[in-house]
Amino acid sequence: MKYRIKIDKDACLEDGVCFSMDPNHYEEDDEGKAQVVGGHMEGNISVGEFDDDGYEDAKEAADLCPGEAITIEEL
Ligand code: SF4
Repeated sequence: MKYRIKIDKDACLEDGVCFSMDPNHYEEDDEGKAQVVGGHMEGNISVGEFDDDGYEDAKEAADLCPGEAITIEEL
C-alpha cells in the first residue's frame, strides 16, 4: 500500500509534534511549520507520497496533530 500525506500549512500551529514524533515523514520548514519530507507544495499544502514503511508512525503523528492539519490518504 502506498499513501499520501498532506499538511495544510494554514492549519499548522508550529508546535513541532509531528516532526518530533516522526522525523522520517515530517520536518520543519523555514517558518517553523511542518512539511512532508521529500514532498512538494500544492498551493499552501505540503504533499508527499510513501510506500507502506512507517505508515503507523505517520498515522500516529497525524492523529495527535493539535491543528488537525495532517491528512493521510491510502493510494
Ligand atoms: S503536529 Fe500539526 S500543528 Fe504541530 S507542527 Fe505538525 S502539522 Fe503543525
